[in-house]
Amino acid sequence: VLNELGQSIAKALEGIKTANTIDDKVLDACLKDICTALLQADINVKLVMKLRTNVKTRANNADKGAGLDKRKIIEKAVVDELIAMVDSGGDVKTVELKKGQSNVIMFVGLQGCGKTTTASKYGAFHKKKGFKPALVCADTFRAGAFDQLKQNASKTQIPFYGSYTETDPAIIAAQGVEKFKKEKRDLIIVDTSGRHKQEEALFEEMRQVAESVQPTLVIFTMDGSIGQAAFDQAKAFRDSVEVGAVIVTKMDGHAKGGGALSAVAATQAPIAFIGTGEHMDEFERFEAKAFVGRLLGRGDWKGFVNKIQDAVPEEHMQEDMMKDIGKGNFTLRILYEQLANIQKMGPVSQVMSMIPGLSNSTMFDQGNEKESARRIKGFMTIMDSMTNKELDSNNPKLLTEPSRMVRISQGSGRHPGEVTALLTEYQRIRTMIVGSGKHPGMMKNMPRAM
Ligand code: GDP
Ligand code: MG
Repeated sequence: VLNELGQSIAKALEGIKTANTIDDKVLDACLKDICTALLQADINVKLVMKLRTNVKTRANNADKGAGLDKRKIIEKAVVDELIAMVDSGGDVKTVELKKGQSNVIMFVGLQGCGKTTTASKYGAFHKKKGFKPALVCADTFRAGAFDQLKQNASKTQIPFYGSYTETDPAIIAAQGVEKFKKEKRDLIIVDTSGRHKQEEALFEEMRQVAESVQPTLVIFTMDGSIGQAAFDQAKAFRDSVEVGAVIVTKMDGHAKGGGALSAVAATQAPIAFIGTGEHMDEFERFEAKAFVGRLLGRGDWKGFVNKIQDAVPEEHMQEDMMKDIGKGNFTLRILYEQLANIQKMGPVSQVMSMIPGLSNSTMFDQGNEKESARRIKGFMTIMDSMTNKELDSNNPKLLTEPSRMVRISQGSGRHPGEVTALLTEYQRIRTMIVGSGKHPGMMKNMPRAM
């Protein structure tokens, strides 16, 4: 559905590109289509009107400057306004967490929005970054809440605290935070209860827990599929505790994502992460530019890069590799390293579907996780039999020499057809990323900021 919104906007912009002259009528028609699409995606009407006004102003200003390309200006204005919309304009300063200090993170949100799951994912994410997380269960409302947190904590090997007997959430929260501060944990995550609806008792409880643990950061967690209701919900939480960031969950489902934009408007806090599945590693940093890029069908390259970097421990980050790609080098070694990373990252299909071009790759058998993993492994085995020269060559023609293909096939014990399949696939991805001689690839098509 996100794609539907993106497609409608892209289509509206296309109308601008193909019109003979850009007059008020053409611009208004384009903006009308964009606004309709945004409203249908549950985006708050005030935000939509703001976008409309700002784009119109910028287009009118363009009329005053001679020789300016009005089409480009309008397109850029729309993209910028969409980015601003998701970036919240930043009334709330992003909280920077420092290792070695006792950061206390409090999760708030309605029951079922994904708080407990997300709190654990958040801990696991930061553990990979070198933090020492701990989880505190301050949900005494829901039976089994502590067991659920314990289970997640064990899965991700994070210390936890909770109680089966204490009924006051503020007391448990304070005990847990104190214990972990003593143990020098530097990211103490407090999971709270949610109740079923926005009721005064819940907000009073949130105030009390916040009062007793003095959080460094309060994260409002919301279900990505709630739509317009997100505005009131987020605002109600913000009115009781100081929300500093938003996490949107269940973005793997039918979430329109529009609700997220409303939550940003209500809290004036940025979206920090999105949840994309039930597994502990289905969790990504939120990138406004990439989000809008994906919305408009430009591929979420940046999101993919982050995913790679998040999957590997900091010291092994493959920045050089990304730099290489940026320079137009896309060798088999780079493909190999990417596949190795994908293997580490959990569900292959989910990761692959984020990479433009890989989503329809022959390596990737939609809906068949085992088969995709098997194909990737096969391709990596073939590459293991290649020489350094072959792996590092930026000249794809080298690899199609028949004698090399035979040697690689025999060396790896894989069928020659499979070697050809790998090379064809590599060629296809390479062309898409760095381009063929005649046509620039997506790296060159990307807006500069991406
Ligand atoms: P809480 O009541 O706010 O603590 O929510 P839970 O963490 O218990 O999550 C409620 C349900 O949503 C559980 O079944 C989770 O597995 C599921 N869930 C949480 N986050 C995601 C997500 O990003 N994607 C999907 N598909 N399910 C999620
Ligand atoms: Mg919970």
